[in-house]
Amino acid sequence: MLNVFTVDVEDYFQVSAFEKHVRRDQWGQWESRVVSNTHRILQLLDRHHVRATFFVLGWVAQRHPRLVREIHACGHEVGSHGYWHRLVYQQTPEEFRTDLRRSRDALQETLGRPVTAYRAASFSITRQSLWALEILVEEGFLADSSVFPIRHDRYGIPDAEPGPHRLETPAGSLWEFPPSVARFAGMNLPVGGGGYFRLSPLPWTLFCLRRINRVRRQPFVFYVHPWELDPEQPRIRAASRTSRFRHCVGLSRNEAKLDGLLRSFPFGRLCDAVC
Ligand SMILES: [Zn+2]
Repeated sequence: MLNVFTVDVEDYFQVSAFEKHVRRDQWGQWESRVVSNTHRILQLLDRHHVRATFFVLGWVAQRHPRLVREIHACGHEVGSHGYWHRLVYQQTPEEFRTDLRRSRDALQETLGRPVTAYRAASFSITRQSLWALEILVEEGFLADSSVFPIRHDRYGIPDAEPGPHRLETPAGSLWEFPPSVARFAGMNLPVGGGGYFRLSPLPWTLFCLRRINRVRRQPFVFYVHPWELDPEQPRIRAASRTSRFRHCVGLSRNEAKLDGLLRSFPFGRLCDAVC
């Protein structure tokens, strides 16, 4: 069974938890570390002969087109992570469509090929923003990975279907690949990446992920960000303690843990799992 490895390509200062403290019109003034950090992920995946799906932020793609071409040249799938990393439920449908097109066009112009996979900033397709799925179909997207089946202060639909599935929208159907959760006593626990992965002991995560493959007989979807391999990144001091903890916990051990994860399972791209 081929599990799905995904990377959300954005810089450390562009995450939703810091958006109140780092203005979008000042992104260009921050020290950019996304290229070198993405190279670390590319090398890590190369060591394990894994091809993955990279959801690239449009703003990053426009400033670093060579990076986008490198990701593609290594055999990975390039998808969209939106242009401005805005939460979907804080946009109107028209604003969402404009941001989506801008990111898609930046990627397609760079690669000269269609971009058909999408992940929203901070998994922000929630109950209030389910309309976004129809817009994705209308704009030619075939797969989405934005609906997190958990309860969280910023995202999630706790009772959403946890495994990869086909979704029907008024405009047509779409593959949904939710970030993975382990089910225990009727509760969904996030185990598929990000801060949850950094916080949990590796054996526990491996146990939960194996259970998804063996008991539910489904592939799991794992996600990581380039800044999660960068313990030296500048700290955003104005952010709350909770946000700083979530962002920085376990950064120094993360690359070794990812190595252990990649050794334990077969992984592929989202487009491999659809076919
Ligand atoms: Zn993101």
